[in-house]
Amino acid sequence: MVRRKLSATDTFWLAQTKKLETYASNKGWKVVYTTGKKNSEAHFWAKKLLIEIDIKPEHTFYYFLHEIGHMLVCQNSKAYAAKYEAVYEDFHETSLTHKANRVEEEFDAWKSGRRLARRLGLKVNRREFEKIRTKCLVSYMIWVVNRKILAAQKKKTATGSKK
Ligand SMILES: [Zn+2]
Repeated sequence: MVRRKLSATDTFWLAQTKKLETYASNKGWKVVYTTGKKNSEAHFWAKKLLIEIDIKPEHTFYYFLHEIGHMLVCQNSKAYAAKYEAVYEDFHETSLTHKANRVEEEFDAWKSGRRLARRLGLKVNRREFEKIRTKCLVSYMIWVVNRKILAAQKKKTATGSKK
C-alpha cells in the first residue's frame, strides 16, 4: 500500500470512521478492514463487518455507514425475516423477485446508515455520499436486469431487427 501523508481532512474522516467502529463493537460486531477485495461486506451470522479501505478515507466512511446499515436492518430479526428472508427462501436466488428484494435491502441499508450518522452527529457530505450510494445501487440494479437484457438482445439478433 502506498503511504502518503494524511491531510487534516483525512484525519477528520478517519476519526468519524473510528466512531462507527466503536458503535459496531458496542453492538457486539467485529470490524475487519480489508484492501484489494473491492467490496465491503456484512456477515450477519458471524457478526462481522468487512470494510474495504478506499484511497479516500471519506469513501471508506460511507462504505462503513452502509455496512452498519445492513447490520441495523438485520438486527431486528423478526422484521428482517418477514420482509426479506421469507422472499429469499421462497424464490430462487437467480429469480428476479429474489434479486429485486436484495436491491431493496441495499436501499434500506443506505437509508439506515444515513440515519445513524444523523443520530450520532456525524458529518456526511451529501453530494459525495449520493455519488457513492448511487454507484453501488446502480451496480446492483444492473446485476438484477442483466440476464433479462442479455436474453432480449440474443432474441433480437436471432430474429433479425424488426421495427
Ligand atoms: Zn450492501
